[in-house]
Amino acid sequence: MRATVIAAAIWHAIRSGAFALPSLPEGVTEGPDGTYEAKCRACGERYEILCDLADFDPDYSYCGGSPRCLP
Ligand SMILES: [Zn+2]
Repeated sequence: MRATVIAAAIWHAIRSGAFALPSLPEGVTEGPDGTYEAKCRACGERYEILCDLADFDPDYSYCGGSPRCLP
C-alpha cells in the first residue's frame, strides 16, 4: 500500500510539472550564454533566435542570412 501512495505522489508531481524542464519549441536549443538557437528551414544552419522565444514559430524558422532564408 505504501508504495502505491508514493507512486501516486510522484505521478501527481510529474503531472503538475514539478519535474518539467523549461519547454522549448521544437528544434530550439539553449546556448551556454543563455541565448536560443534554431535551425534555419532553408539552409539548415543554426542561428540565434533574436525574437522573443514565445513568438518563435518552428514552421517559420529562417536565419535571414540570405534572400532564400526569409519566411
Ligand atoms: Zn538560412
